[in-house]
Amino acid sequence: MRYPFLDLGKANAPYIEDLVKAATRVIDSGRYIGGDEVATLESHLSEYLDAPYIIGVSNGLDALRLILKAYVELGRLAPGDEVIYPANTYVASVLAISDAGLKPVPVDIDEDTLNLDFNLIEASISPLTRAIMPVHLYGRITWGNALKDIAQRHGLLIIEDCAQALGAQSSVKGLYNSCMAGALGDAGALSFYPTKNVGALGDAGAVVTHDPDLARTVRALANYGSDRRYHNIYLGYNCRLDPIQAAMLCIKLDHIDRENESRRHRAKIYNDNITNPRIILPAMAAVPSEAVWHQYVVRVKEGQRDNFRRQLDNMGVGTDIHYATPPHRQPCYKSLADYNLPVTDRVADQLVSLPIATGTSDNDIHEIAHIINQLSL
Ligand SMILES: *Cc1c(COP(=O)(O)O)cnc(C)c1O
Repeated sequence: MRYPFLDLGKANAPYIEDLVKAATRVIDSGRYIGGDEVATLESHLSEYLDAPYIIGVSNGLDALRLILKAYVELGRLAPGDEVIYPANTYVASVLAISDAGLKPVPVDIDEDTLNLDFNLIEASISPLTRAIMPVHLYGRITWGNALKDIAQRHGLLIIEDCAQALGAQSSVKGLYNSCMAGALGDAGALSFYPTKNVGALGDAGAVVTHDPDLARTVRALANYGSDRRYHNIYLGYNCRLDPIQAAMLCIKLDHIDRENESRRHRAKIYNDNITNPRIILPAMAAVPSEAVWHQYVVRVKEGQRDNFRRQLDNMGVGTDIHYATPPHRQPCYKSLADYNLPVTDRVADQLVSLPIATGTSDNDIHEIAHIINQLSL
């Protein structure tokens, strides 16, 4: 592959010396659970996101699960309550809702942003609706006064799935004045899965919130439900963040703004140079800071998606699909199969993600755009 979709070794190469140093420091410290490394990452994230409470956890799915379960423990959500989520998302968003005993209610997406269509939310609100989970899919913020108004009018919690959008900055303030994705709503979940914009060298995640009660409850739930040693107030879990990952994430976090700026630049090169009439380009964000381009996703018209991918593969260009099968079409979610989600269903057959991560140079992007323009589809 001349242009692999993603080469994580290459993406981490610029940081290798610092990463090895950090890992060595943790190994030498003899402290392998909790401690200063985790606390330091939490405080860096707190400062970066302008949010008072960060809890490092095991991964992004656990961050979402812990938020929802903590709201159940606090009596803010109850089993059977409905949570609205965008139909075009990774299955983890929905698994977290189900796992907390809540009912996921999919709402269709806006064709331009491929994110939650705010105009469709109110028609899906029932007397049981208690929360909305916006997902900043592909690194694009989904936020605005329309969403805030709906949540306020109906007394709904806003829980952000920010797995793909760390560093995105909203032009509309959040509920607690932070403008950073993940800190806009009542609580947010971050993922540091290795492919994410800030990637660990294994699994990792974090919960973000402005609510001290939620923070306390999440922290306890993630540590066997204990508020202090050998004192268990909840039926909890083990969802802790490893210090060795925290130490490496501190290094990666220092470079996030520059990395995101490079992604924005690469996305713009694609948008300025791909002219193949069969390809629908993603809309650039009106405010550039609102998109961090975790994925660069085009749509291929008229059933040519597989043909497009095959031809690119022959030319040495790796691609991927996010996501070919939306959660409501998965075998485990037969309960969601009857929802009418025409936009999500239609675009699911058109989506293709092109290489955009660190390791793909600006020159590579120019060449890939050129290759795409030569294809006959
Ligand atoms: C990656 C991802 C998750 C889950 O994060 P993990 O750390 O892999 O558990 C959740 N939601 C979305 C939108 C994601 O992309």
